[in-house]
Amino acid sequence: KNFTVAIDGFSSCGKSTVAKAVAKKLNFVFVDSGAMYRAVTLFIQRNDIALDDEVAIQQALDNIHIDFVPNLEKTQILLNGEDVSEAIRTMEVSEYVSEVSAIKAVRKAMVHQQQQLGKKRNIVMDGRDIGTTVFPSADLKIFMTASPQVRAERRYAELAAKGEEITMEEVKENLAHRDHIDSTREESPLRQAEDAIVLDNTDLTQEEQLDFVLNLVRE
Ligand code: C5P
Repeated sequence: KNFTVAIDGFSSCGKSTVAKAVAKKLNFVFVDSGAMYRAVTLFIQRNDIALDDEVAIQQALDNIHIDFVPNLEKTQILLNGEDVSEAIRTMEVSEYVSEVSAIKAVRKAMVHQQQQLGKKRNIVMDGRDIGTTVFPSADLKIFMTASPQVRAERRYAELAAKGEEITMEEVKENLAHRDHIDSTREESPLRQAEDAIVLDNTDLTQEEQLDFVLNLVRE
């Protein structure tokens, strides 16, 4: 039987960094579910689709094909064959992605795809609803947290390194905005699964976080 690790938590808690490291160490497939919602958001923005236009949203979902290209140093995400790994990380996408992710049809389509990805392989998936909705019977569920200050600093450093002109205030606002929508939406809101193990990484190095998860996998 294949092994599934679900890593959930608020924005910029370092979920994908840990998930990536765990997958690499164990030779599991890593799937960044947030990247899928970002790709859908990019498609909707590029095509000027109104979020309340249910027909157009469904049509968009039917025309969106998302692929991951692993095995490289950096996992690439393809939107209808185009590498959008960089394009989905802009502030423009970040500002819109939680609204898009709250749409029921979008969640239904993404959750389905995510479940397909996990069917036959050992997988580490990070997101908001992986341990609750996508893989409720995951072998290991981690719920990550970090202090709001540390999260904002990490996110700010990431964006600044890419040359985005942004202030710390804007980063904090965006994180708070996404956390609010993510945890209050009707469909599969962000919440800690009952059987999830909390990993607060405020004061942990990446190596300590990796060890924490690896020890749990080995148990
Ligand atoms: O993980 P990341 O911060 O890149 O995710 C971007 C956004 O995608 C989140 O703020 C959230 O709105 C949405 N998301 C989601 N469910 C997931 C993963 C991400 O709603 N499983």
